[in-house]
Order: sequence, then structure tokens, then C-alpha cells
Amino acid sequence: MQVTRNTFNDVMVPNYNPAAMVPVRGEGSRVWDQENNEYIDFAGGIAVNVLGHCHPALTKALSEQGNKLWHLSNVFTNEPALRLASKLTNSTFAEKVYFANSGAEANEAALKLARRFSLEHFGENKDQIIAFKQGFHGRTFFTVTVGGQPAYSDGFGPKPGSIIHSEYGNLDMLRELMSENTCAVMMEPMQGEGGIIVPDPAFVKGVRDLCDQHSALLIFDEVQSGMGRTGKLFEYMNLNVTPDILTSAKSLGGGFPIGAMLTTDKIAASLKAGTHGSTYGGNPLACAVAEAVFDVVSDEALQAAVLKKEALYREHLARINEKYDVFTEIRGKGLLLGCALNEKYQGRARDFMVAANEENMMCLIAGTNVVRFAPSLVIPDEDIVEGLARFEKGIAKLVAATDSE
Ligand SMILES: *Cc1c(COP(=O)(O)O)cnc(C)c1O
Repeated sequence: MQVTRNTFNDVMVPNYNPAAMVPVRGEGSRVWDQENNEYIDFAGGIAVNVLGHCHPALTKALSEQGNKLWHLSNVFTNEPALRLASKLTNSTFAEKVYFANSGAEANEAALKLARRFSLEHFGENKDQIIAFKQGFHGRTFFTVTVGGQPAYSDGFGPKPGSIIHSEYGNLDMLRELMSENTCAVMMEPMQGEGGIIVPDPAFVKGVRDLCDQHSALLIFDEVQSGMGRTGKLFEYMNLNVTPDILTSAKSLGGGFPIGAMLTTDKIAASLKAGTHGSTYGGNPLACAVAEAVFDVVSDEALQAAVLKKEALYREHLARINEKYDVFTEIRGKGLLLGCALNEKYQGRARDFMVAANEENMMCLIAGTNVVRFAPSLVIPDEDIVEGLARFEKGIAKLVAATDSE
């Protein structure tokens, strides 16, 4: 059966608008489309393909587990889930893990747990969730309402209640909003979708202190920032601020759908048997792959190499910017980087992404003013250099076209 990009318009719900080419194969940080054109991948499946495409350790884990046991449901536990949870708790503040299938589901569990914990320990008035403008936490109705972009949650009828938003980076505003009724504060320790916003570490410490003062839980959404991307296993380790609940997904599965919510013994106790669940969550296939991801990504040598690769990106991007004057800054950490467009190119991030794609480089945007890179953490240096050379070609054409308008 022949399918093309046009088939998409015929058979798929129009909630996405995918690129013109259809990828069919990937290896490392390179991808090939139906016409066998080759691309360098700086998008990484939106910060998911943490070890690139078809990494041998992940392919091995997937095929071994695929020949053993795929699925059981949570009526039974399984070895890969137990091993993965042990590794996650051994390497973090957490003592307990809940597995889901996506970032949104991990966050949904975190929010439900926070509400339960609050109800049990403080009574029913303490139900307020505070999150941040431009934050992103997924697309279930609860998580998208907690997310800080009303455009994503409007138009679906009555929203879950007792959710308010503060300004990211504004501790005074948060202090004003918090009270004895605050159940939890949910935040990304570095905003991803919102434009690659790295907070002042003092702000994050301040949020922790306010949560302690008001007996509110601090939830870190590390779905995008976690699993080695910022040069540590999780970004909270760079910040030296420990949350009460942490969520992970995206890179955790390296391309296989999985999400996880991590927390302490004391808080976990509020999700008693029967209070929450998922048919697929923690299934052996997903956990076997995630365990293989974890084994590679938890290596400190790999994490140090991430920072070297960041420096290589920054060096080349600075050189490109000297020549074409398109960015105000390169922000982000490790291999989650944002090129913020200057005044002249406001609102045109998508044009830069398309220009890159036309030169056979895949990248992302974060909002309308930031071009985002979230490549594999083991992307070869040659691929970084070659991908940025292609980006430069695209920029040269875009700048020339803009100047001749
Ligand atoms: C992508 C993302 C999510 C949602 O994850 P899904 O797997 O798409 O449900 C949640 N939080 C953050 C910070 C994300 O970047």
C-alpha cells in the first residue's frame, strides 16, 4: 500500500500539521525520508530520542524483551519495571515510583497524588494548584489546565478548578498568591515549550522555601529537562533544589512511550491500592527499553560529554550569528538549546525551522521566537558541525530573502 504525506490529510485528524517529507528510517542522528534524502536530526523526536535512532543497546533490549514478555497489566508486577524503579530510586531523592505511558500521564498522577496527600493530611480546603505562565505539562484536561497557556485549554468546556498561574521567575508574585490553601506548586525547572527559559537558581530555591512555609508540595516536571539532557541525570541536581514529586517521560524511554512519577515514601502512601492506575503503565517492554536508556544515560562520562557538545553548538552558533545577526542569545543548558530571534525576525521561528529542513536539518521551535535543538546526547561532533553548516545555509537564504523584500 502506497502512502504519502497527502494520505495524512485524507485519513488523519487534522490536529497536527506534519512536515512535507515522510521519514522512514533512522540511524544515530541521521534520518532518511521516502525519497532516500538524508537529514541530520537536531529535533530528537522533541527531546525523546536521547540516544539517537536505533541505538544498539536499545534495539537489543527491545528485541530481547520482545521475545520474552510484552505485557501483563498491573494485576502482576514484572522484572523490568522493578529493576527500573530500583535504579531510579537509587539515583535520586525518590523512594517510590509510579509508571505511566507519557509525560501528561505522569503529571496527571503527580497532581492527583498531591491533591490526595493534601486532603489526607490537611483537609479539603487545601486544594489549590499553582503553576506558571508559559509552562507546559501535557494535554490531558487537568495537565493542560495546569499548563500556562490558556489557548491550549480553552474551548473544551468547564475546566478543573482551583488552579492559578504565577509568573515564572517572579518570586514576589508567587509569595502573594500562596496561602495555607496551596496544595502544590508545579513547575518545570527549565521551561521547554515556553521558549527554553532558564530560571535564576535563587528563584527556584525561593519556590522551595515558600512551599515549605505553606506545607505545599513542590512538583518538578522534568519530562523535557531530565534524563541527562542538562548534563546531570535530572536538572534538580544542577539546581540543588529537591522537589517532593518529580515527573519524567520523553528521554526516559528513548523513543518507546513511558512516563514515571517519582516521590518519597511518605507522599506515595496517599496513592493507596485502587486510587489510581493504568493498563499499560510500567509494562515490561517499555521498562526494559527505559532500563537500557538509564544504564547508558546515568554514566557520568556521558553527562560530561553533553556539556562539551553544548560548547560546540554554542561556538558555531556564535560564529553564525556574527555573520548574519539573527539571534539575541543562545539559551538553555546541555543539549536543550534555544536560539532566540532578534527584533528583526520576531515571530519567524517557524521560517527558520523550515529553512533548516530545506537544507536537510531537522530542528524544533519553542514558541514563535525561538529555534530549539534537542538532539541525541550521543550525537557525533561531526553531525553537530554538519547540521549547523546546513542551518547556516538555510539562514543565509532566509536573511537574503528578508533583505530583498
Ligand atoms: C512534552 C512535555 C509534557 C507532555 O508529555 P507527553 O508525553 O506529550 O504527554 C509534559 N511536560 C513537559 C515539560 C513536556 O515538555
